[in-house]
Amino acid sequence: MNDAFERFVTSAKGIAEQLVAYRRRCLEGQEPTVRQLPIEELSEKLRFNHWIKNGGLTDQPLSDWMDTYLANSTRLHAPGFMAHQVAIPHPNGALANLVYGFDNNAMNIYEMGPAASAAEYAVINWMLSKIGWGSAPWPKDMPEDGAAPAGLLTSGGSLANLTALLAARARAFPDTWEQGNSAKAALLVPEGPHYSVARAAGIMGLGTDALITVAGDHRGVLDPKDLEPAYQRALDAGRRPFALVLACCATGTGLYDPIEPAAAFCAKHNLWLHIDGAHGAAALASVQTRHYLKGIEAADSVIWDAHKMLATPSLCAAVLVKHGRDLFGAMRQNASYLFHDKDQPGYDFIEHTVECTKTAMGLRLFLILGAMGEQGMGDHVAQLYAKTTRFAQQIQARPGFEIAVEPQANILCFRYKDHNALMLRKEILRKERYYLSTVDLMGKSWLRLVIMNHNTTTETIDGLLNQIEQIS
Ligand SMILES: *Cc1c(COP(=O)(O)O)cnc(C)c1O
Repeated sequence: MNDAFERFVTSAKGIAEQLVAYRRRCLEGQEPTVRQLPIEELSEKLRFNHWIKNGGLTDQPLSDWMDTYLANSTRLHAPGFMAHQVAIPHPNGALANLVYGFDNNAMNIYEMGPAASAAEYAVINWMLSKIGWGSAPWPKDMPEDGAAPAGLLTSGGSLANLTALLAARARAFPDTWEQGNSAKAALLVPEGPHYSVARAAGIMGLGTDALITVAGDHRGVLDPKDLEPAYQRALDAGRRPFALVLACCATGTGLYDPIEPAAAFCAKHNLWLHIDGAHGAAALASVQTRHYLKGIEAADSVIWDAHKMLATPSLCAAVLVKHGRDLFGAMRQNASYLFHDKDQPGYDFIEHTVECTKTAMGLRLFLILGAMGEQGMGDHVAQLYAKTTRFAQQIQARPGFEIAVEPQANILCFRYKDHNALMLRKEILRKERYYLSTVDLMGKSWLRLVIMNHNTTTETIDGLLNQIEQIS
């Protein structure tokens, strides 16, 4: 391997230049935003078997190969990318991945990456403070009763939801870790929660029947008037509710469930309040948008994906709890916050994560926050939200187009006359310039835009609408 290290700087420079050229072509719209060759054909082009058998993928061959790879990548940097809740990463995110790929400090235990662990502590503290809980004490200063905020990073919002719900169950049913599920539990959820919530219920052995839906209004936003009836429905089904999940914001519509009435309801019934802020907790970063999460400090747990709205390459997801003792109970019985040896110099996140080995996710987010500053990060989120409101007006102003709901976040659902959204999307994708998704809402199917890219402009939207008119 030593000769590979000798070539490393040259190779890295070459690839950095290729990436910059790739981005330039994305911005100029010279290449398809999305193109999906059949996997057989693509595998042939990339000659995987040849390189695996013979080796030698370095220098010029590596550069040539990377050109083909990038040519067959989905171009998030293109203004026409409006399909999914995945960040256009700040370049410092790429540098963080480069450094991690090199030093490989798999830091779930402190001794395997003190600097990376400290970076995780720092970004978790930033997030905790944005919620309004203040920062986590240093490990040695965690109070005996564990009543101080805490958090960790994990590999995605789905795993983050699972981790938070394990903590919620551990508080209500402390014997479960050792004895398995005995009581029939119920988890109150909004209409159309992210599928990972149902999946967590399945993994936890609660069964998806444990999900009791709180009705939403016509937009699907949780209706506080149905909280008590939903609680009663759970009891009538012979189940004991232990937590309420709110979508802040919902994946389909980008709308926020109201936290304050939900928090009052949870306090009354001693339920755990979990905020699924995978996408929308980022609104906490800006004074212009944080009102959507009013009352969030009353929650017990919050999840927040940096790889969605915080310009961070995937993955980097946070589980944040108001009381550290709750998180410490997620993965074992008789929760004690004293797992770590208080004499050790750092902190082992491994005690509370599904992962054993974990990537240095804190470095990813920190290098970006450190470059943009928190004000810059807040502006990044607020600008994407504001832009989406403008796009909604632009779409509504065009004859034949209607939006599903007034957007709150950077997710926008719309229709053209009575055209089937799935068919439209198929044609739009075939033309390769615009990449969007679809969603079923209010008994209809809608085209769905997620505005992640600052280079998406009113001209981009005009071009998309023109194309839709031409297709239909
Ligand atoms: C995206 C999303 C998730 C899942 O997050 P991943 O990082 O994709 O696993 C969970 N909940 C909501 C509301 C989301 O938008």
